[in-house]
Amino acid sequence: MSAQLLEGKVIAGKIKEGLKQEIQSLKQKPKLVSVQVGENPASSVYIKSQRKNAENLGVEYMLETLDAGITQQALIELIGGLNEDASVSGIIIQLPLPKGIDHRLVMGALAPEKDAEGMHPENLGRVLLGEARICPCTAQAAMELIESTGIKLYGKEAVVVGHSEIVGKPLSMLLLNRFVTTTVCHIATGERGVLPEHVGRAEILVVAVGKAGLIKGEWIKPGAIVVDIGINRVGDQIVGDIEFEQAAQRAAFITPVPGGVGPLTVTMLMRNVVTASKLQQIN
Ligand code: NAP
Repeated sequence: MSAQLLEGKVIAGKIKEGLKQEIQSLKQKPKLVSVQVGENPASSVYIKSQRKNAENLGVEYMLETLDAGITQQALIELIGGLNEDASVSGIIIQLPLPKGIDHRLVMGALAPEKDAEGMHPENLGRVLLGEARICPCTAQAAMELIESTGIKLYGKEAVVVGHSEIVGKPLSMLLLNRFVTTTVCHIATGERGVLPEHVGRAEILVVAVGKAGLIKGEWIKPGAIVVDIGINRVGDQIVGDIEFEQAAQRAAFITPVPGGVGPLTVTMLMRNVVTASKLQQIN
């Protein structure tokens, strides 16, 4: 392997030190309320990590577990109560929500200044305007990893594979806001068979699809910064979307999976809670 590893844990450690100090200087201890509707193993793993990180940093953590049969209206009313509760700094709604509940409506019901995941339309709009306040956690995590390389981003060619509203789209806006020439690839790019040529141009490549081995190592531009957001279970292993060993032969920097983006995502959630807490102290 010739690439340098971009390890999320190391960067997260530094950010958490700063957050600890910020939290100590706040008038009120921040409180994050996590809302889980029904059972989901992936969400439960994330919730465990949220609680651990919150407690280590001095953020109060409360989990509201709701029955999968809850109506959309009842969920929105519960969110309304959390919005009104002055002791709550941030709220995270665990996705996916059960069928029949419109996640966009639910996200829209959050008070924007308590939206710990940055999924309220106002917060996403601010990302689009280049005035991000609370920003989707995984997109922020990818940016932190890219910036940690110290490479000047201005004018670079980036390719983002995956255009979900939680990862690919906000990330492409964050890159664009830094004057990176950004191409966004999606299912139609894959179907047209032109993913290799887009990927091959990328000086910065970020992949967030959820398909193991989708991106072949041989497509990677030599010297690229490569961030793999994908999480896939293959047998008893967790792997990303990129063929790691082959890509690491060509890239200058690459994230491992696991250990790359994941540890930083939860740190960005904590940073959002601190931002949310500060916004409420201003208001
Ligand atoms: P998602 O909502 O399912 O989005 C996947 C995206 O990939 C969609 O935009 C889809 O396009 C696109 N796509 C599907 N097949 C493709 C192909 N063959 N070629 C090009 N693009 C293709 O997933 P997500 O929530 O963004 O998550 C993506 C991955 O990241 C998952 O593995 C997830 O577990 C992981 N993830 C990791 C973290 C972390 O902290 N490490 C956080 C969030 C997510 P269409 O919509 O057009 O079909």
